[in-house]
Amino acid sequence: MIDAHYDVLVAGGGSAGVAAAVGAAQAGAKVLVVERAGFLGGAATLAQVLAWCGFYPQIAGRMPDPVVGGVGRRALDHLQALGLDVEPYFSASGNWPIRLNPEATKLALDRTLTESGAQLAFHCDLVDARHGGGRIEAVTLRDPRGRRQVTADAFVDATGDAELAFVAGASACAAHGAATQPASLPIRISGVAVDASLDKVARARCVAGMERRLGRAELRADGGILTTLPGTTDLWWLAVDVETNGLDATDLARAERDGRELAWQAVRTLSALPGFENASVAATGPKIGLRETRHARTVDRLRDEVLLDGLRPEGTVALGGWPMEILHGPGKAEYRRIGGEGVYGIPVEALMSADFSNLYLAGRCIGADPAAFASARVMGTAFATGQAAGVCAASPNADVSGIRKELLRQNAILDA
Ligand SMILES: Cc1cc2nc3c(=O)[nH]c(=O)nc-3n(C[C@H](O)[C@H](O)[C@H](O)COP(=O)(O)OP(=O)(O)OC[C@H]3O[C@@H](n4cnc5c(N)ncnc54)[C@H](O)[C@@H]3O)c2cc1C
Repeated sequence: MIDAHYDVLVAGGGSAGVAAAVGAAQAGAKVLVVERAGFLGGAATLAQVLAWCGFYPQIAGRMPDPVVGGVGRRALDHLQALGLDVEPYFSASGNWPIRLNPEATKLALDRTLTESGAQLAFHCDLVDARHGGGRIEAVTLRDPRGRRQVTADAFVDATGDAELAFVAGASACAAHGAATQPASLPIRISGVAVDASLDKVARARCVAGMERRLGRAELRADGGILTTLPGTTDLWWLAVDVETNGLDATDLARAERDGRELAWQAVRTLSALPGFENASVAATGPKIGLRETRHARTVDRLRDEVLLDGLRPEGTVALGGWPMEILHGPGKAEYRRIGGEGVYGIPVEALMSADFSNLYLAGRCIGADPAAFASARVMGTAFATGQAAGVCAASPNADVSGIRKELLRQNAILDA
């Protein structure tokens, strides 16, 4: 029995899902977004990934103009209204990320979604889908009441793991195979003196000593990324990388346990540094951070050369500016610059399922070459692809110029 009908159903409430739901609602659609957790934000709030990257391109020396507006900007405005500093900072890697406070992020995204009129289901898992005639017809949702079926005219897969595409038909997915980027367990650290130096060289020495002792190499040799958390005296440390396929429950259990052991020992190792004597692990998770699992098959993909040359392909519906941040394996991160003016366009075809005419992909699920994906996956860009996917889903009869017009009306940035 069908429980309800929507114009657009969005699976997943990360940055891409929030933007898709708001974009579709602003285009006039009746929208439901379903999220497995009890809050929005995806990796930011689920996996302690506490920096929004991709709002600004990589330009040294001066603060660049943003390449993401629209729903992403609205979320930043809500964070600012909560008293948070949303100005980007110039990081050691030469980029412009925005630091996040996880609780403020949950609240800001609640507000961003609520004001759009989109409906929200938390603790709700999308577990199955029915299709016919090249379209997804209905999905099965599971919440604490049990299972129910919901129909929609169009669907956005913003699950990160392309779960909707997968349950609709496994052939709708393709993995990047051996090139899949490793997972990480970001750590929130408390107890550090406010005037402690965050010197990278000293931290790298600590990490190297620990790796020699343990005979392991999953920690970043350069000491990883360590920064402050706005509104707290805690620090955020991204240093522990873990290999997992991210899909198999037994393998995920091994990765979560392994990551936690390593995180605990790594923070204890840091206590040798001045000001870190009382450092302790304040939080990891609740979920390990998965960079890449599966991708849906799309009509076309975001190609590496678009990023290498800083191109705007025809049919661009979102912009990216984050460098290609490629993890060759645990502990081995490499940044490759975006060419041209440091900005590239994401074509609408990279958001369109090759298998189902009413399914759109957003955020971590879009179609992309491996190096292009290493840039487009960041959360600022996920807001942009999410909003574009939501507008596409809400506008079945619009061509790409109509989609762009609606996105511009919604304050998205398409021509930075
Ligand atoms: C360790 C790590 C560090 C990173 N560092 C940064 C960084 O510093 N800055 C940055 O911008 N990006 C960073 N990234 C990349 C970024 O976090 C992700 O690529 C981004 O979160 C993708 O957004 P998304 O909305 O597509 O997916 P996600 O954020 O993964 O959100 C997907 C959401 O869908 C929900 N979901 C999944 N399946 C279902 C289902 N079947 N039913 C209902 N809900 C479902 C999940 O619970 C989740 O909330 C990092 C990633 C990792 C793993």
